Amino acid sequence: MNAQLIIEEPLDPATVRLGIRAAERPDLRGRRVLVLGLGETGVSAARFLATRGAQVCLQDDAPEGALAPSLARVEGLIAESRVGGAVWPGLEGFDLVLPSPGVPATAPLLIAAAREGVPVWSEIELASRFLDVPLIAVTGSNGKSTTTTLIGEMMRAGGGPVFVGGNLGTPLIDCADGSEPAELAVAEISSFQLEHVESFRPGIALLLNLSEDHLDRHGSFEAYVAAKARIFARQADDDVLIYNADDAGVAALARTAPARRLPFSLSGSLSGSLSGAGPEAGDEGISLQGDSLLLRLSGAEERYPVNEIRIQGAQNIENAMAAVLAARVAGASPDLVRRILGEFPGLPHRLERVRVVDGVAYYDDSKATNPGAAVRAITGFSSPVILIAGGKDKACRFEPLREAVSRHARAVVLIGEAAPRIKQALGGVVPCIMAQGMADAVAKAHETAEPGDIVLLAPACASFDMFSGYAARGERFAAVVRSL
Ligand code: ADP
Repeated sequence: MNAQLIIEEPLDPATVRLGIRAAERPDLRGRRVLVLGLGETGVSAARFLATRGAQVCLQDDAPEGALAPSLARVEGLIAESRVGGAVWPGLEGFDLVLPSPGVPATAPLLIAAAREGVPVWSEIELASRFLDVPLIAVTGSNGKSTTTTLIGEMMRAGGGPVFVGGNLGTPLIDCADGSEPAELAVAEISSFQLEHVESFRPGIALLLNLSEDHLDRHGSFEAYVAAKARIFARQADDDVLIYNADDAGVAALARTAPARRLPFSLSGSLSGSLSGAGPEAGDEGISLQGDSLLLRLSGAEERYPVNEIRIQGAQNIENAMAAVLAARVAGASPDLVRRILGEFPGLPHRLERVRVVDGVAYYDDSKATNPGAAVRAITGFSSPVILIAGGKDKACRFEPLREAVSRHARAVVLIGEAAPRIKQALGGVVPCIMAQGMADAVAKAHETAEPGDIVLLAPACASFDMFSGYAARGERFAAVVRSL
């Protein structure tokens, strides 16, 4: 046992009996299932369904040529396909519809399914019914990938095979098909995946934070939050919900949760946030106390020194707290948890420092694809920031950027479709410079910055107006910065 890790009392690692929570397993033999969308999820789901004897049909709007690589992966497994604009006229004869996360709830076939009473399951609903291992499921507006990966590393450090995936990388259904050995699944879960669940019930659920995102898809913030709440809706009192006590929206929602609730808090107040709440009533959970994370569970205490945590920034301390809590509840040893906190370098394009040029540090936070993430990035710096923002609009309000920018930024450089809306929302609190593309944006930020400043790419928008994804956007930014 490491001397600096203060264990006041040995903590029972099996704080939670992490059972398998699968609901009834349907017999898929002979069932006619319509898979909507043949992306990564659709391919995996189609293969899973066909292997279990379902009659799998397919619809995808993309042209056949573009779908060719995906169609090759399901060759011989699809009973009938409609692609490139061909559509199923209705759902007669279908027992189940399985939409990809990209398919909006307003799609005609999903409306028809609701009208005709045909069940609609997202791939995580199907997966959770067939999982043979306990599930830790992570959602929130921001920090999902970082926290999921961190929990996965902590659980893997114990040596057992752990599946890490979901909305991040490999679809959860690939864990359910048993092709890779796993003792535990840790899955990132998006609001889109939670739109169509019935019995999805993770043994440990995490709700990290809530801020506006994907409103173009969900229609309203309320609908988005309602989708997120489904991560815990089917839990019972022998399950655990880990939640952010500092986020008022999350804390309010958590009060409605049926599970045992364990908060995390950067502001240090666990009990304050719980007034009027239910089963946690004590001060269990994890919080920042001075220079340590203090974990309290089942009457025992553990401390994890903050200066040993490799990922930086307040948002990442939150992610670290959530991960420590989940990993400890799931039985990882404190020594391994602490070791991984010291080793985990973070994921690319999440507040990644690229280089310092002429005394100006350049940061790539291309994964800040909503205003909430951008605000966290901006407010994390004490030096003046030149913010590069803009991209594809998701109908989120940009007003939350205004205060952060007025207090922390010297100027804002705007790119992409959303540039005029962001400029308007900022209301002239700092100079807004319009740029044509990433090279121009970096050049303008470089001209504006003074030694000691930060140039931060935190777009608050998706990237698809100009790039294939956030990673391509971040790579382009880094490439231009390296060439300065
Ligand atoms: P997600 O999978 O939810 O998009 P990521 O870990 O990929 O989460 O991070 C997405 C963005 O949010 C990045 O810009 C990152 O710097 C920022 N971020 C990470 N954790 C948090 C947090 N707890 N709160 C707010 N922003 C965060």
